[in-house]
Amino acid sequence: MHLEFINQWFRNGFVAAYVATFFLACSQSAEEAGKGDPMVSAGDSGKLQVTTTVNMVSDLVRQVGGDHVEVTEIMGPGVDPHLYKASANDVTKLQNAEIIFYVGLLLEGKMEEVLGKLKDGGKPVYAVTQDLQKTKLLDSGEYEDHFDPHVWFEVPLWKETIDVVVAGLSKADPDHKADYEANGKAAKEKMEDLQMWATEKVNELPVEKRLLVTSHDAYNYFGRAYGFKVVGLQGISTVSEAGLADRTKLVDFIKEQKVKSIFVETTVNPDAIKAIATDAEVTIGGELFSDAMGELGQMEGGLDLGTYEGMIKHNISTIVNALR
Ligand SMILES: [Zn+2]
Repeated sequence: MHLEFINQWFRNGFVAAYVATFFLACSQSAEEAGKGDPMVSAGDSGKLQVTTTVNMVSDLVRQVGGDHVEVTEIMGPGVDPHLYKASANDVTKLQNAEIIFYVGLLLEGKMEEVLGKLKDGGKPVYAVTQDLQKTKLLDSGEYEDHFDPHVWFEVPLWKETIDVVVAGLSKADPDHKADYEANGKAAKEKMEDLQMWATEKVNELPVEKRLLVTSHDAYNYFGRAYGFKVVGLQGISTVSEAGLADRTKLVDFIKEQKVKSIFVETTVNPDAIKAIATDAEVTIGGELFSDAMGELGQMEGGLDLGTYEGMIKHNISTIVNALR
């Protein structure tokens, strides 16, 4: 696990530097640097060509689209969507898509412009969060008039994004509308079962032990859904780094609250949290998925960590076991 994490972290750093360096100058892409799916050109397979940003959205599209869709993903495991800029090859993937889905709420903040241009040009582009009631969303706390984008950690809220995927796919490919609707219904039932599992698992932990300390504020919806108090070292986005004052405050807080463990995240450099664990004399309770799921087919105790269900179950089991 540890080695895997270092690998992932190194790879992300490498990809980020690579993309930053070659963004304007060349057509090579992140996956040529060692990750991602091969390029798929539209229409080769006869399937609806869908491009997605993060893998939580890919999971939704796969569940609803089934055999009728071919999903091309821009980001993958371990990639931080707050910081991610589209490479020239990503833009090609977006242009080749017949339909595009992303999270929205400024999660993919540096891709908003390119997604907006494609939408203005007539491409069907959907933020899966577009129809969520504003009253159900949490404020970002950081920027005015912005909402916290990490809605996938509240399973009943993420369930509501399925309708946008069903409607989008049905409009782009009306011949298979009935299948998309049936798959959407099945996906909702799966999430209802997952929510029941999550609630039961969390109830193993007494309320006073439900305190989650992590790298960035990705878990406020999780906190609301499952009764946790949540503290992140960095804010809602990872764009700003934690200052020294924040670190000292967090160390004091952890000591005062007698927190047993704190957690690192798959999409954020773990160094700052590790330093805090040392200063506060607590253990690292494990690595949580935050803004990306795992690799598809990466198994852990019978769970595929590259699926939404696997991500949620891994996180909740890790948290409950470490804080027990
Ligand atoms: Zn985040």
